[in-house]
Formats: sequence, structure tokens, C-alpha cells
Amino acid sequence: MVVESMEIDEPVFVTRPVPPLAQPIMSYLKDGSLPKEEVSARQIQRRAKAYTIINGELYKRSVTNILQQCVEPAEGQEILRDIHQGECGHHASSRTLVGKAFQHGFYWPSALQEAEDVVRKCNGCQSEVVGAGTRSVRRGGSRFDQDLFIDFLFVFLIRV
Ligand SMILES: [Zn+2]
Repeated sequence: MVVESMEIDEPVFVTRPVPPLAQPIMSYLKDGSLPKEEVSARQIQRRAKAYTIINGELYKRSVTNILQQCVEPAEGQEILRDIHQGECGHHASSRTLVGKAFQHGFYWPSALQEAEDVVRKCNGCQSEVVGAGTRSVRRGGSRFDQDLFIDFLFVFLIRV
């Protein structure tokens, strides 16, 4: 499999199944097949514009125009853990983690939730990131938050 032509920086993980939520979009992009029901068919056509298939795998173009590979939540968790404990993570906060995972070209709807989980379960973080401090930041409603939220909504709506 050739990965050099991909537009993402570090294609660390290469082959994976398409998450069920993204399946209709995948089928449409592959062979133009759509559900019989007209409304969902049109929805899929519209949403498919944000997606593309590279080497047989589905990618989503993010609001910041980064190609993101759609991954299963379980796999996403692993990616988050790697980033969090790895060289470029330095026990980053949950939102920083999600940002990095997305920048690295991975995408899945429950990322923020799982990033919070990773931070909560990390021994190295227990002493530093506790309660009130992080919570107020998390609910701050920054632009970044909103963009993420819109992205999340987008994928949740794919369900047919
Ligand atoms: Zn940590």
C-alpha cells in the first residue's frame, strides 16, 4: 500500500474498517449507491462532499481543511493514549489531545469524551489536572469548541 501520496503528515495507522456511521457515505462515493428514501439519499449526497476515499479508506475534510481518516472509537482511544503519553503530548489536556488527533488526520465523533477519559485515567495526570480548573476551561465555549461541536454533530447526523 502506498502512503506517500496522502496529504496527511503522519499516516501511522494504515488499514482499518469504515465505522458503521460512515458506511452510507462510503458506498455512495464508491459506486454511487444511495438509500431508496429520498431525504436520506439527499442528505448523504450533501454530506459526501466533505469526504473522499484514498487508498480505499474514507477521509473527512475538516473545517480547517485537514483530511481526517474516520476511525473506530476504540482505535481512537489508542491514538489519544499514544499522543497523551508520547513525545508530543506531554500529558496534554483533553481538548489539546483531540486537536492533535484531528490534526494528525484521525476523526471519530466521541473523541472529546474519550480524551477526557484518557486524561482522567492517566496516573501522571492525577496530581495536576483535577476538577474545577479543567471544567471551567472545558465549558468556556471557545471557537475551537464550537468548531469541534459542529464536526461532531455532522457525524452524528449521518445515521440513516
Ligand atoms: Zn497524563
